[in-house]
Amino acid sequence: MSIVVSALKEEQPHEKRVAIDPDVTKRLIKAGMKVLIEKGAGVASYYNDESYQKAGAEVVDRQTALSQANVVAVINLPSDETLNALKSGQVLLGLLSSLIKPEKMQQLADKKVSALSFELLPRTISRAQTMDVLSSQSSVAGYKAALVASDAYSKYFPMMITAAGTVKPAKVLVLGTGVAGLQAIGTAKRLGAIISGYDVRPASKGEVESLGATFLTSSVSNGAGSGGYARALTAEETAAQQKELAGFIADNDVIITTAQVPGHKPPLMVTQESVDNAKPGTVFVDLAASDLGGNVSGSKPDETVTTDNQVMIIGGNNLASELSNSASQLYAKNVQSVINAMVDKDGNLAIDPKDDVFSGLTATTNGEIINPRLREALKLDPLPTDEPAKDETDEKADQSAESKGAE
Ligand code: NAD
Repeated sequence: MSIVVSALKEEQPHEKRVAIDPDVTKRLIKAGMKVLIEKGAGVASYYNDESYQKAGAEVVDRQTALSQANVVAVINLPSDETLNALKSGQVLLGLLSSLIKPEKMQQLADKKVSALSFELLPRTISRAQTMDVLSSQSSVAGYKAALVASDAYSKYFPMMITAAGTVKPAKVLVLGTGVAGLQAIGTAKRLGAIISGYDVRPASKGEVESLGATFLTSSVSNGAGSGGYARALTAEETAAQQKELAGFIADNDVIITTAQVPGHKPPLMVTQESVDNAKPGTVFVDLAASDLGGNVSGSKPDETVTTDNQVMIIGGNNLASELSNSASQLYAKNVQSVINAMVDKDGNLAIDPKDDVFSGLTATTNGEIINPRLREALKLDPLPTDEPAKDETDEKADQSAESKGAE
């Protein structure tokens, strides 16, 4: 029996992406699978139902997409109503906000639904790179952030020398130069702005400079944490950082912020005082805007705020979705890569919780919470490992040596 994969129409009002595009539909079908697409799922990404049908998918109602699939692919964590409709043995794959809402993963575990949550992917394993939704979507968001900023800014980005006079280039500051920040720098650079980048990870200096931007060295002594991410700063370091950034912010026209620290709320880098002191016409785009707060004081998710001093603060939390077609194309490839890795040699779906990628990516399978960070969030004891404890190994080695000696 062939594996059935479905993609649902997203439920969030701001979401325009879809988890499977027609190209990946074709690839999955070529690999022997059946694809079900909920009616209208791709419309906001400019993939109509006919394009999926042409690719070989069946366009179905939500109930069918939910009940007949072995793997249900989504962008965001679905509503409770949708989660409740899932059955034992099905796999749910998406950006499931598993660490923010661990109780939903427990709910799925109780139903023996397997949940694979892209936020949990161990990104530094090279085999996982084709599955890395955080990178593919951050890259799209960083690109779009530069475009949104240039659109909102009331002057040119490039220098313009005209018969009517010369216009100076815009000065753009990018705070947080990971995947999104570097893409924002590259894009703003192509638009002709003068760019500087800032990060607490010293390793990002070379990456920023290779794009032709100036790296502003942070006074924070090595803010690198584990896995290539930043660490959370202490209260003293945060205050010092906010102070050192105040001068840079006042000197720039456009500030794009992307700073995140895994497992923590986004660091506040631009204080209310810095917003108050910004020049009229300054544009902030805060990719970290969230209900918990963002990198910029006063930023609101999915909203643009204009302050009394004529500063615009754009909540850019959902910018990948604004480039819905390309973002969905890349996301779908990440989904396909995970599905391929789940198919065993007999062509059946199998999640190996001991595999180095799936032990991270899997929130739950077979009724058990697998991911160690999620187990911690749910206050569950760590799962026992297969490796015998060191003293046990030593004991066996000793016994074996003894028995060899007796021979
Ligand atoms: P992220 O989204 O967690 O954070 C964005 C940026 O904000 C990071 O560069 C981080 O250092 C920075 N930041 C956090 N707190 C800050 C603060 N207080 N002040 C200034 N900057 C702050 O990170 P990301 O973009 O997902 O990636 C982070 C790193 O991981 C990058 O170096 C990236 O290249 C690396 N990465 C590696 C792989 C891989 O090995 N395959 C995959 C993905 C990412």
